[in-house]
Amino acid sequence: MIMRHLIFVFLCIGLSGCGGPGSESTGGTAAVDSNKVYRWKMVTTWPANFPVFQEGAEKFADDVRIMSRGRLDIQVFAGGELVPALQVFDAVSQGSVEMGHGSPYYWAGKVPEAQFFSTVPFGMTVRGMQAWLNQGGGLALWREIYQPFNIYPFPMGNTGIQMGGWFNKKIDSVADLQGLRMRIPGLGGKVLKKAGGNPVLMSGGEIYTALERGIIDATEWVGPFHDLRLGLNRAARYYYYPGWHEPGTEFELMVNTRHWQALPDDLKKIVETAAAANSEWIYTAMEYHNSQALRDLETKRNVEVLEFPAEVLAELRRLTTETLNEEAEKNPNFKRVYDQYRAFQDAYAQWSEMTEGAYQRSKEDKL
Ligand code: CA
Repeated sequence: MIMRHLIFVFLCIGLSGCGGPGSESTGGTAAVDSNKVYRWKMVTTWPANFPVFQEGAEKFADDVRIMSRGRLDIQVFAGGELVPALQVFDAVSQGSVEMGHGSPYYWAGKVPEAQFFSTVPFGMTVRGMQAWLNQGGGLALWREIYQPFNIYPFPMGNTGIQMGGWFNKKIDSVADLQGLRMRIPGLGGKVLKKAGGNPVLMSGGEIYTALERGIIDATEWVGPFHDLRLGLNRAARYYYYPGWHEPGTEFELMVNTRHWQALPDDLKKIVETAAAANSEWIYTAMEYHNSQALRDLETKRNVEVLEFPAEVLAELRRLTTETLNEEAEKNPNFKRVYDQYRAFQDAYAQWSEMTEGAYQRSKEDKL
């Protein structure tokens, strides 16, 4: 009798709606669902083989495949392979693909307030950013902002503090920013313009030639590791820090809301956990590779690594506040996110200063 029942169960696997003895017991449907294989596509904004960024997206998909024993199988496409890099948001929003990986400030034209979920000039570093997102209500707000677009976002990666960029002339004072033609996108570009500079937009692939030929005087990109890979050290002499315009750029995993809601709870938890694990992997990979590449740049490549003068940073900071306030006046959603972001940043600043700030200073050589 037991054997006959087992044979019946065995035959029923793979057939939905098997009737007969035992089928009325609960769990019949769940048993079918728990074996369902979801084959998803993820598109990214990164070039194919782009180290750390695209690698992180692919590692996430591998982790999910292993943890779900193949039940959630995500195929990853780099920018341009399935959809152009800057259409990733729309593709996920429309549901033509289930997932995307990028950074929210790419969608600033459509959702200006999304920039706060990436980074803003003189904003929070990775520590404050992740505390805000994961504990301080930032992620809930982000999900609310993306909700009309049918996208459910997760934080997944951070570049750490970027570098200020490559310059072919020294920046000794605010006056040196006058007329400076610099490749610097987004809010950072708006601030540079206020300072008298001339921000230029161009994609990563165009930067080297433009700088080498003098079409631009300066450029920002990411940090030592990616900048060295692009060969920017061969196109400019001075490498400035810190990256005031990108103090900790956060990346996002986007999931189409309808597809997200259709996932069983255990697969949802696997996605959430793998996103958190790869968020840490991307950030720590950046810290590791950048510290190694910086030594390489300084010791072998004849690059002068310089800190922006305090006067220049103070002026850029003043102009940043002016820029953010102007944007907030134009757009109520921008204002709403800015208010919450700033409230957290202000509250966190004292703690950050008493811990990281004071500790780092205690190690400075005062002699
Ligand atoms: Ca950058």
